[in-house]
Amino acid sequence: MDLKSRCVKLNDGHLMPVLGFGTYAPESVPKSKAYESTKIAIDVGYRHIDAAYLYQNEVEVGDAIRAKIVDGTVKREDLFYTTKVWCTFLRPDLVRQCLERSLRKLGLDCVDLVLIHIPVALKPGEEILPMDSSGKILVETVDLCQTWEALEKCKDAGLTRSVGVSNFNRRQLEMILNKPGLKYKPVCNQVECHLYLNQQKLLNFCKSKDIVFVAYSALGSHRDPKWIKGGCPQFLEEPVLNDIAKKHNRTPGQVALRYQLQRGAVVLAKSFTEKRIKENFQVFDFTLTPEDMKALDGLNKDFRYFKIDFGIGNPNYPFDDEY
Ligand code: NDP
Repeated sequence: MDLKSRCVKLNDGHLMPVLGFGTYAPESVPKSKAYESTKIAIDVGYRHIDAAYLYQNEVEVGDAIRAKIVDGTVKREDLFYTTKVWCTFLRPDLVRQCLERSLRKLGLDCVDLVLIHIPVALKPGEEILPMDSSGKILVETVDLCQTWEALEKCKDAGLTRSVGVSNFNRRQLEMILNKPGLKYKPVCNQVECHLYLNQQKLLNFCKSKDIVFVAYSALGSHRDPKWIKGGCPQFLEEPVLNDIAKKHNRTPGQVALRYQLQRGAVVLAKSFTEKRIKENFQVFDFTLTPEDMKALDGLNKDFRYFKIDFGIGNPNYPFDDEY
């Protein structure tokens, strides 16, 4: 990882900017906010945009990207765009369809990266969360190696430059890495990671395999009740974090992001508020000391916001293993 060039080289040779702009927002947020915020983010300097079929705002994010290309702010090749294949498309014959839907909404020919969003499959169909008549979410089991092969084919077809995974544990990463006939290694594993869940072991494992570790919810997560139970602890108020932020004349959010960069993680930051979009980009001009890093490591309590309840009990559920 090179913090000066602000990019990391992926194991397939492509470059990924180390700070990404997150685009998930709860359903209550008007979709037009994604359009406005993505335009602001590109103006501010973000060149990595993290999106997904699930977020249901790729039309607006794509409109913003194309508007910024048309007005000359960026060229397509300056941007790194990630999308994700949702759980209802994990059967191998459906993977490409999900990516093609994202591309159509975006109005682009090719994304930079496509990820398996979550390793637990849901029953195929138009519903994001398919349910039976009693409201139970309909989960199914897929062979993730076959899903991976379908993703490799998307790369061969030129629909994406790189392929990766999200929310995979070590065992699942090893399963892909050891798959007979593996054509492409996952370039990254995008997982929840922040001061209360620093994922040191998974980070070390990813580094040892040349898989980029991408941290989401690094600012404490959106805590949308659709996905996260209420009453979760929030670390941005932690005195240790606030003292370090004061010492560097920074905000707690900036320190929480810088912490990830200095550990060698790529970090995502979501904000749809202009002031914070700008603030979160100002993380390249200060350095946390080894003592600061150690104190921040000490805040870890292996607390996970996203438990992905619907997957509990499925053989592909990722969070039963230690990491
Ligand atoms: P973050 O942890 O990045 O941000 C959480 C909230 O913090 C935002 O809603 C934002 O509100 C607020 N915020 C932003 N900047 C600051 C700041 N400097 N100080 C204080 N508060 C701040 O949110 P996410 O959980 O959305 O994660 C980031 C991105 O990661 C997502 O948008 C998505 O792209 C990706 N992601 C991927 C997942 C996966 O399964 N692969 C799961 C979850 C997220 P406001 O908008 O009002 O500023």
